[in-house]
Amino acid sequence: MSLDMSSLFRSFFDAPALIARHGLSSIITPDGEVLDIPLSEVRDTLRQLPPPLLIHGPATLRLLELPPEPLPAPWLDLLELFLLVHPARNVTPTARGLALELKLIPPDDATPLQADILYKIAQHLLDELAEQSAQKIATLHLLLPTLRQAGWSWHDIVKDALPAAKNTTQHNRAKEVDALKIWKRLPQWEERAPRPPAGSHSVNQQEARKRLSALLGKDAEPRPGQADFASATSYAFTPRDVANTPNIMLAEAGTGTGKTMGYIAPASLWAEKNDGAVWVSTYTRHLQRQIEQELTRLYPDPTKRHELAVIRKGRENYLCLLNLEDITTTLLNRSPQQGQSGLIPLVFLALWAEATEDGDLMGGDLPGWFGDLFQSGLLNMIADRRGECIHSACPHYQSCFIEHGIRRAQHAQFVIANHALVLSQAAWNAMLPQDTAPGNLPDENGVPTRYIFDEGHHIPDAADSAFSLVFSGLEAADLRRWILGAEGGRSRARGLLRRMEDLMERLPSLKESLQELIYATQKGLPRPGWSSRLHEARQARLTPQFEDTNLPEEETSALLPDDTDEETPSLDVIEQTPLTQPAEDFLQMLDMHLDARIAELQMLTRGEHGHYPRQECDLHPIPTPLRDRAEGLLTALQDIVTPLDRVIKHLQNALEEQEEEPDTAFQQRLEGTIRSLHRRALSRLQGWINMLRAIIDQPIAQPSLPTYVDFIHREPLPSTRVLQKGHDIALNRHWLDPTIPFAGTLQSTTHGLLITSATLRDRSPNEDGDTGWEKAERRLGTAHFLNPPMRAALMSPFDYAHQTRAYIITDVSRNPTIQAQAFQALFEVAHGGALGLFTAIRRLKEVHRRIHEPLGMKHIPLYAQHVDAMTNATLVDVFRTETNSCLLGTDAMRDGVDVPGEALRMVVMERTPWPRPDILHRERRRHLSGGRPGDYDDLITRMRLQQAFGRLIRRADDRGVFIILDSRMPSRLLSAFPDGVPIQRLPLTEALADIDGFLNR
Ligand code: SF4
Repeated sequence: MSLDMSSLFRSFFDAPALIARHGLSSIITPDGEVLDIPLSEVRDTLRQLPPPLLIHGPATLRLLELPPEPLPAPWLDLLELFLLVHPARNVTPTARGLALELKLIPPDDATPLQADILYKIAQHLLDELAEQSAQKIATLHLLLPTLRQAGWSWHDIVKDALPAAKNTTQHNRAKEVDALKIWKRLPQWEERAPRPPAGSHSVNQQEARKRLSALLGKDAEPRPGQADFASATSYAFTPRDVANTPNIMLAEAGTGTGKTMGYIAPASLWAEKNDGAVWVSTYTRHLQRQIEQELTRLYPDPTKRHELAVIRKGRENYLCLLNLEDITTTLLNRSPQQGQSGLIPLVFLALWAEATEDGDLMGGDLPGWFGDLFQSGLLNMIADRRGECIHSACPHYQSCFIEHGIRRAQHAQFVIANHALVLSQAAWNAMLPQDTAPGNLPDENGVPTRYIFDEGHHIPDAADSAFSLVFSGLEAADLRRWILGAEGGRSRARGLLRRMEDLMERLPSLKESLQELIYATQKGLPRPGWSSRLHEARQARLTPQFEDTNLPEEETSALLPDDTDEETPSLDVIEQTPLTQPAEDFLQMLDMHLDARIAELQMLTRGEHGHYPRQECDLHPIPTPLRDRAEGLLTALQDIVTPLDRVIKHLQNALEEQEEEPDTAFQQRLEGTIRSLHRRALSRLQGWINMLRAIIDQPIAQPSLPTYVDFIHREPLPSTRVLQKGHDIALNRHWLDPTIPFAGTLQSTTHGLLITSATLRDRSPNEDGDTGWEKAERRLGTAHFLNPPMRAALMSPFDYAHQTRAYIITDVSRNPTIQAQAFQALFEVAHGGALGLFTAIRRLKEVHRRIHEPLGMKHIPLYAQHVDAMTNATLVDVFRTETNSCLLGTDAMRDGVDVPGEALRMVVMERTPWPRPDILHRERRRHLSGGRPGDYDDLITRMRLQQAFGRLIRRADDRGVFIILDSRMPSRLLSAFPDGVPIQRLPLTEALADIDGFLNR
């Protein structure tokens, strides 16, 4: 069903205002009639009205259970107007969020807002529009015709509100089009002399305390443990005495200690004394921004902060101007009949690119809801996702955000990164001493010597992802595409031959090796359509057991050029399609092996809630046909590596020659190409070759303590990929203990390492402090370093006995109706401000389906991960802003969500968060538990409970309750909670009464 929405507004007062929500929605009609009606009546009412003034159209449609509308949206979305006025400023995408941001309501006003606020927001934003700088007004005048052409519904209203431009030179279409071409007017970065290596002066404990006190100022809230933390962590900033033995500090700081400022104090001193950079690594993008915010105390001047504190993420997070140009040009060349609505988000991106701090598309100053509002794939298309950067051969190189960020980081005092980036960089740098080839290069971010791992309890997980290997259809096809470019269709993907054209002109000898590389890739890696063939082969094998597979359908969009279809190759090497295809043969054999070994043969069938059962099996013992196919694939991969090696050597030789006659641009081009050939192709191929060798040389008996865990895993294709119907199958190799490569890569280059978190140690009952530390050291990998770490533990300053309560509910069964009723009753007694944590998405959706309406009727909005059309970060922003709302989520909401104050006063876990019983866990509990696999499960579960409990109290005046709806939760896990927390096992009704007395007294 679709609403009749054809619009052209002269005034926003012509539109009804709508705040849609579960329970009663608020509508004001253009005649001024005020309606509070149930969501079920909103659709019928809107059908009789013009398209509404609203906030977040796609989320509203979802709430109304209406299908998505293509661009241009017929309604007036205030978020689009906000983007026009404040293109690089985040705001919570709700009426309260906008009203607070624009200071239209007091910060403590929690009453439900009515739709009249939307008119005030619109008027305020239009007033602000009139106050923009002369330059911005001139730019907007140039961009408006494009927005009109694209059918933007705000066009006429904005045009009327916009003051006349000061320099009224005649506009022509060329100037208007140029206004979109942001890459032509961005500032250019300039090269600086390389930074000399950092010094080795240490930071002593007194200095660290003094610096902390100076940073906090006289009026700071006293935090007794913070100065001790700053003092203790200064150890990580003492010079190391012996090679390969970094000084490691393990510092557990209970919630509320103030650990970020605590480590900034010694780290900033070290950076100043030694003219070096300290790398702070954390787990999520959101936490990276939080740390940057804390650095405001150290660098109150924004210009200085921009210079000395730099956020670094993977390249795929940043705007690639070449991709933006590519998409913009394609859309501009479309005729009006083909539709130009895709230009609307590009106008906002052009405005954002002019205002952004660093071009970060994912979690930076581009609002997190941008992708939800327009087209989720757009941001991926304009980021450097495909790894096709051509470095100094790019016409936008000197303006490139990524290159600028890399250079800023090389001269910063603080680089704020994430664990994934830090580990991949450390792995690269650790290879250097062994690689004596000419032109070997350090990571583009340099070789840091001082690291702080904040949220350090995530190190094992981060290391597991960073050092695992996977050979799958998608991975292999991705590499083929990276080398060959798109093959047919409309995709813009450029292959190596096109990307290296300029290099071949200067180094003609490259061409032969490149052509060999292309031929070997065509022969060896899966051809387009591989997933359909894989699927059909499986279906043919298993038919007639299964008739219909109900696999995910294609998702396409007509808005933007299709990024994954294929085009006719422009290469001068034409594929001679071989009869057999080593990679596809191998994938089919993996499929057969998995079917033979899984307990229950089943097709990948979408479950009731759109999810798929996990399908995996052990690789070992390996049947002969699989080994034979592995040999075929191994040969094919080696045939790719041989010319690839030659290409890299050509480039390295050319780079070496540069030392005699340097040409900076060419040198940068060579360096960038060598790094990407290594990273995107060679290291991947070498990893796969090592995996295949292990299959071929399989020992007769498996070692009693394996180094790796090998398994096969099948899954549907990601729904975001525009590919044929089919599935993917993967061979996985994980380190049994991923902290071994973590220690191996860091210990050679690192001089000082601080690992900190609120939850480093397990709180196992009946264990002394030393045992807890020893277990933490094994888990975090510091036991693999040569030098034992120093340890420090700072207690949380919070009074948990008075600020919290914990309940284990004894009479709520696993029946979905009973579970949903329990959630509803708990959320109601708390009057919102509750976070529900689930261990299965299916159950989360079920509870949401049952309780969102009744909660809405009581003015308690319910949001949910996997249900609402918003990213996790946006959902958390909404939850934080709407203090009476509730949020349902899974693991990502359990760790690292920081919602202080009233907005979070209850955490409800639906079940005990046991580890998932998969093959990887089976092997780790067997081999890493010291013969006590049950204790290993308990440890993981207690750590998760600690993390979940940690969400509850973030400030000294917070109060909160923690509830587990699982009567079977063993008492031995209760030690996860901080000392003093009153814990009770109660039936639900008694617990509700107790909670009511505690929270509402
Ligand atoms: S230098 Fe690379 S990442 Fe930057 S704009 Fe050019 S192609 Fe994109």
